[in-house]
Amino acid sequence: MRGSLVGSMLFASVALGPARPSAPPAPPATRVVMLGTGTPNADPERSGPAVAVVVGDAAYLIDAGPGIVRRAAQAARDDSIHALEPARLRRVFITHLHSDHTVGLPDLILSPWVLGRSDPLDVFGPRGTKRMVDLLEQAYSEDVQIRLHGGEPSNKTGYAANAHDVGAGIVYRDSNVTVAAFNVAHGKWDQAFGYRFVARDRVVVISGDTSPSDAVIAACNRCDVLVHEVYSGERFRTRPAEWREYHAAYHTSTEQLADIATRARPKLLVLYHQLYWGDDDAALLRQIRAKYRGTVVSAKDLGVY
Ligand SMILES: [Zn+2]
Ligand SMILES: [Zn+2]
Repeated sequence: MRGSLVGSMLFASVALGPARPSAPPAPPATRVVMLGTGTPNADPERSGPAVAVVVGDAAYLIDAGPGIVRRAAQAARDDSIHALEPARLRRVFITHLHSDHTVGLPDLILSPWVLGRSDPLDVFGPRGTKRMVDLLEQAYSEDVQIRLHGGEPSNKTGYAANAHDVGAGIVYRDSNVTVAAFNVAHGKWDQAFGYRFVARDRVVVISGDTSPSDAVIAACNRCDVLVHEVYSGERFRTRPAEWREYHAAYHTSTEQLADIATRARPKLLVLYHQLYWGDDDAALLRQIRAKYRGTVVSAKDLGVY
């Protein structure tokens, strides 16, 4: 079953008790669409990490996991979210350069162009993003040349990508949103970001990959939606010692996230990039709710919040 705003609101009223007015609230203008909730595990139900903040006809993508363009096309088709039509995908904010978050980058640069996008893709990310994009351009230069000059009726501009290595602080602004990057702790990476989106009606924070970070709490601070990575704290105890050491340094357990959310106080906490190790969504939610009283959902691909 796919998540949805309606589903999460119903869920909230059941889970938390307080009666809600009979007329449903108007849906927010700013929506969070989960294009991929997965991890490096090749789960056919979960594409690689990618989230879209959608404001009107504009989409702001966070990360480019494998499957991103097809999931965007699916959201455009099945949920009529036209901002996610492939030819409209124009900008992406990369949290860090782990492959599960970037393997979809050549897809995002090239496929929308082949499907008609004439604007280059803007790519924002940590140090090394520009180098990665430059190397991808080289890697696909034969394809680009044949599409430009081999008789395909292609546009001559949309294959390019404008990459920007950015630091913490405001990295982007337009009439819909202001986007700020903040540093999070992700093991030995010297630069990994979360992102904070401020739109007219909502503040949305994406944790990226992180061990417990006070920066996430400060960025959210009663935000509307906090999308946070998580692993099963219960199953963690059954993992081999070297993997426990790794995950403790790089990621956030259910117990730790309960504490973070209690202090960050989001209106809605959305779990993504879930590492289950045999648990399921209900088990993750049970572990979170043991220590956290706010509204929480465990996202599936194409959930809309
Ligand atoms: Zn990851
Ligand atoms: Zn990572």
